[in-house]
Amino acid sequence: MSRRRLLTALCTFTLIATATPAVAAPAATAEPRTLAPACSERPRELPIYEFTDHRELGIELDRIERVSEGRVEVAQIGRSNRGREIWSARVGTGPKAVLLTSEIHGNEKTGTDALLKMLDWVGTSDSPKARRWRDRLTIVAIPKMNPDGAELDRRGNDLSWQEVVASNPQLRHSEPAWNYYTEPRQGDDYSERPGFDVNRDYNPDLNYVPRATDFPGSSAQPGWYITPEARAVRDVYRGLAAEFGEVDTYVDLHHQGACYVMPEDRDEFVTLSVSGRFVDDPATTPGYEKYAGRYDLDYSKRLNVAVYNALRGAANNRPVFGNVTLYPQDLHLPGTGLGSFALNGSGTVLFEVRGQTQTLGQRHRGMLTRAVNIGLDGMLSAIASGQVDRLDPADYDRIPPRGPNIGTATPTADPRTLLEP
Ligand SMILES: [Zn+2]
Repeated sequence: MSRRRLLTALCTFTLIATATPAVAAPAATAEPRTLAPACSERPRELPIYEFTDHRELGIELDRIERVSEGRVEVAQIGRSNRGREIWSARVGTGPKAVLLTSEIHGNEKTGTDALLKMLDWVGTSDSPKARRWRDRLTIVAIPKMNPDGAELDRRGNDLSWQEVVASNPQLRHSEPAWNYYTEPRQGDDYSERPGFDVNRDYNPDLNYVPRATDFPGSSAQPGWYITPEARAVRDVYRGLAAEFGEVDTYVDLHHQGACYVMPEDRDEFVTLSVSGRFVDDPATTPGYEKYAGRYDLDYSKRLNVAVYNALRGAANNRPVFGNVTLYPQDLHLPGTGLGSFALNGSGTVLFEVRGQTQTLGQRHRGMLTRAVNIGLDGMLSAIASGQVDRLDPADYDRIPPRGPNIGTATPTADPRTLLEP
């Protein structure tokens, strides 16, 4: 057995050990402890067929719309650069609009499956909880918003700078955007099929039109809506803002490195990191002052506390759900969807589930998808009941930070392998 296969076998054992439901577990110590973990961030080709692909997504959304008897409305909101449909699914008639997106990075796939499960339940259940969600919330989900990246199983979309210039001739003398990939990343070769990190293409000015002087830009500056995928989500957001006055909450579902460990227990991997902070305080950031009146970091913190509390509660039965940490808080990424929409007044929540497909493939898929659903359930219930307003934002600051990444990688590994969010 090769070393790689041996590591895989060890990790598979770990999966089986942690996937066995603890029967009537009285305390968080009932689950078998993992042995000293072996973990690699080195990109590999791993199976992903258990995840929902674009074709299956269309079929499943169709089915959910049908069995919900009209409660869930599916609409095509745009097309990817390669012509794949981007769909939204809307359910509920309540006054609070909640927008959720997944797979903006096509190698981060649990969010799509979690959204489908949530839509199926809220669209068909007659439980008091589902009725409350439908009465008090308007939920709009955009699963797999970067379908070209998802089909290629990679982070970036499938769009060349030449194509961008063809539709934006004012950029013909500009340098390509800084988030344009033409070299290997995370094991994917972009030289034949270049693309962009779509999650740097947002701009808090929802009516922004690309200007030559704003290129190539940087991570500290907003994006441009040059990708059809970010434009499709922006259009939905803008429509909801016009309809509801404000989009109450925006959630973006991602994956992070596979080998982060808990700060107090380095034998335990982080299942999920959360965050509500993606930009510097606009009140004190030159050029962003106009957003200060709407920006509400405390609300984002409360939403994240609701997610955290739900997962900590679930850890009573299955400790792995309790391995939740706070994502790094020193970001200023106004070109992310979360950053741009936070500046427009939405409460924002980032989910960073363990392991992109180049490191975990579909391993732990069921558990990690379930973790997303538990977190979403806690958050949406707290918004629908109003409990979110009674949560203490200071609890957010007490969520433990991520421990170190203990992953092994070859010395030549691309340091950008760990690109997030
Ligand atoms: Zn991501």
